Amino acid sequence: MDGFKKEFDVIVVGAGTGGAVAARFAAENGLKVCLIDRKPETLDPAKVCGDAVGSEIFDLLGIAHPRGEELSCHIKGVKLYPPDMRRPLVLIDPKFTGYIINRSLFGRRLLKEALDAGVSRFMHDTKALDLICHNGSVAGVKVRLSNGDTAELGAKIVIDASGLYSVLRKNIKSDIIENNFKKEDAVLCYREIVDFPTKAQKVKDPDYITIILDHKRAPGGYIWYFPKNEHSLNIGLGVYMDYRDRVRELYKKSVFNEFVNTKEFEILSSGGGVVPVRRPLWSCADSGIMFVGDAALHVNPLHGGGIDPSMRAGYHAAMTAVKAIGKGDVSLNALWGYNSAVMKSFGSEFAGLELLRRVLQSLTNADISFGLNKNLLNAEEVLYIAKTGNIKPPLGKMALKAFRGFSRPGFLLNLNYLRIHMNQVITLYRNFPGSNDIEEFESWKQKVGEQYKKINFLTEKLRSERQV
Ligand SMILES: Cc1cc2nc3c(=O)[nH]c(=O)nc-3n(C[C@H](O)[C@H](O)[C@H](O)COP(=O)(O)OP(=O)(O)OC[C@H]3O[C@@H](n4cnc5c(N)ncnc54)[C@H](O)[C@@H]3O)c2cc1C
Repeated sequence: MDGFKKEFDVIVVGAGTGGAVAARFAAENGLKVCLIDRKPETLDPAKVCGDAVGSEIFDLLGIAHPRGEELSCHIKGVKLYPPDMRRPLVLIDPKFTGYIINRSLFGRRLLKEALDAGVSRFMHDTKALDLICHNGSVAGVKVRLSNGDTAELGAKIVIDASGLYSVLRKNIKSDIIENNFKKEDAVLCYREIVDFPTKAQKVKDPDYITIILDHKRAPGGYIWYFPKNEHSLNIGLGVYMDYRDRVRELYKKSVFNEFVNTKEFEILSSGGGVVPVRRPLWSCADSGIMFVGDAALHVNPLHGGGIDPSMRAGYHAAMTAVKAIGKGDVSLNALWGYNSAVMKSFGSEFAGLELLRRVLQSLTNADISFGLNKNLLNAEEVLYIAKTGNIKPPLGKMALKAFRGFSRPGFLLNLNYLRIHMNQVITLYRNFPGSNDIEEFESWKQKVGEQYKKINFLTEKLRSERQV
């Protein structure tokens, strides 16, 4: 093993949105990068996605905004409907304006930008099988090449952006990386792109993406209706993982039959996938390795958007690698700054939103309709939650609103309890340990875990009340 050659500075596994951005910024900043993907050179021509991405990330990273064929349409904001569909909450904000994209063309563009930035080697049709470790640190990847042979590739740092079911994360022997996630920390999604070639059906509300919260039609998740252009739609739903065998049936009943009311349609694409909906991995790095995007559970727990955070994480991983390699130190201590950057950039917000998501899943349809119809949280307040992962309005203000109509004091108290714990979780995340001191890290995890336990207690209570 001593003679094992580390040919590359960085190996990036996975050329999706997270991996392509990581490879681009690492190469642009002078590192010798190898990018590998198990897919062919053209990546996935039918990538399953809701195709929505906010505009903010492009300005943040200095990446060109989608345009031309890559851009399906511009989105002004989100309309969030309660189960009774009476009155939507209209969310307009830089966080919610953005694009519906052609996901395959977008993915290929990010890959091209990475290759143009100077990636030394792009190995498509190449599957990562396992990590290679040396002296307790990751030192490369074992791969299966397109011709069926296996090979060992050495690097100072591996960036794993190979998606939710990452084999590298599953196999890593580490005290701080979670190998698996729980099924209640993910939702199952199914979607179709439906085209109306003769324009037999008009696309409603083409400037907004529509989200419907409804536990009957989409248990544990929501329904989406995203316009692609004036004659096609991306429609789908997310549900609890337990609905694995029924997700298509539910889609047909609650989404397709609901939104497609003509016989003149063409289904351009259909498919599903699993989306993580929790805070990021406790630690997204260990010695010689960083995890990015879905592989590190970097998805917004409230709406399942993972393109933006995967790109942010890819950027932070690349910049951390540049710094660490510059100093000649790729230990966990040297890569810890990646964890801090992730937690600051979106991790703390996602930790708060995970609590909200858990409580939302435990509410009844009547509660959700009550909350939205009574304006218990208005658009401005919901936007604040989405931006910060925190609930702003103090109890008094909410109480006033609630009692103005008819009262549900229990509901209000639960909301306040949630507000307090979201607040505490975010404060803890803002004070994410500054170094990899294991004792400090474990004690921080324990404190965060206590907040989650308290919310679990609330969700159990809400569920048992529902069953009475
Ligand atoms: C139905 C659905 C709808 C969604 N809608 C939206 C949406 O509207 N907006 C949004 O922002 N997000 C959405 N998401 C989530 C979003 O698609 C992901 O969070 C995002 O693509 C994550 O990017 P990534 O780079 O981490 O992983 P991926 O895009 O999954 O890329 C991983 C790459 O790694 C490669 N790979 C995997 N294993 C290996 C291996 N062993 N060796 C080599 N290569 C490997 C894969 O081929 C792939 O190219 C949706 C997800 C689903 C399932």
